[in-house]
Amino acid sequence: MEALATFEKELSSPKKIFITTHVKPDADALGSSLGLANYLIKKGHEVTVVTPTDYPSFLNWMKGNEFVLDFSKQVDRDLAVKKLNEAEMIFCLDFSVLNRVNELGEMIRKSDAFVVNIDHHQDPEDFAKFKFWSTQAAATCELVYELIVKLGDKNLIDKDIAECLYAGIMTDTGGFRHPNTTKNVHLVVAELIDLGADVSQIANWIYDSNSVNRLKFIGFAITRRLVVREDIHTAYFVISKKDLKKYQSQTGDTEGLVNYALSLDGIKLAALFSEREDGIKISFRSSTEVAINKFAASYFNGGGHKNAAGGKSTQSLKETVEYFEKLVEESQEELFHSESVTAN
Ligand code: 5GP
Ligand code: MN
Repeated sequence: MEALATFEKELSSPKKIFITTHVKPDADALGSSLGLANYLIKKGHEVTVVTPTDYPSFLNWMKGNEFVLDFSKQVDRDLAVKKLNEAEMIFCLDFSVLNRVNELGEMIRKSDAFVVNIDHHQDPEDFAKFKFWSTQAAATCELVYELIVKLGDKNLIDKDIAECLYAGIMTDTGGFRHPNTTKNVHLVVAELIDLGADVSQIANWIYDSNSVNRLKFIGFAITRRLVVREDIHTAYFVISKKDLKKYQSQTGDTEGLVNYALSLDGIKLAALFSEREDGIKISFRSSTEVAINKFAASYFNGGGHKNAAGGKSTQSLKETVEYFEKLVEESQEELFHSESVTAN
């Protein structure tokens, strides 16, 4: 049977469904998870959404937010494990490799449930029975919309679902600015607006909900923690644990910071190094001609999209930054001048 037909058959009777997404979910991760969850609930399924970690409070407006279980919290963990063990179907959203969900990854690998992967990242691992995957999609939310339409259920997309999905498309296209802002993105978004998405309200919830601490932190980072290396077209932020503590940094407070480095004239590669409890988290952004996901995968145990990727390091903050600078200096030719870089 064709994959989509098998999947449809699976969904044709009420199922116990477990939905998860990547660590530190962003608007696309949570929006696709809750957009899909709200749809599946309407179809009569029993749905649990579990995130591997917490996520920014500017996403708390999404319908179903109060039912999300955070696997990193002891209070939610037992129930999350129970739901995973009972699940007949598992949906993995907005990630392509199982190590993006921490310990949940291996539990999913071992599960007998019907595993579905809906995603737009490069190089997917082969862990799902049904894959609804395309790197052409700007956001997983775009794919969730298309899947619901394919299943003949566009009429079930209400204002709440439309808003969850709109949020992910808005943020993963950088506010409709990145090269992934295709005609299809605009067509999908037009439909979502038609279905009730309030675009200025969503932008307000996501972009205009700064705390004073966060704004001061951004000011501090730009004035004191930005390193600009024009000679290698690179700019980056180095944020220590102490800095994060000083500004009482909350999850999501560093979101978007790396873009200020990329916004500099002549800068083609931007990075943000932040010192977390479990090591150094790195965010990379690049101008269109630089494939930064390959760099992240080769040297920093990471991956992502061509111009927006991430990685990690277990070295100290200082060592990580020195290693990074050295790598960029040594691979300038390959990074900035290669003709062989393929777009996606
Ligand atoms: P961000 O910098 O916003 O955390 O992530 C940018 C993009 O890179 C996102 O699509 C995210 O999923 C991906 N990404 C971030 N960190 C990692 C990582 O450690 N591993 C992989 N494979 N992808 C990552
Ligand atoms: Mn995404």
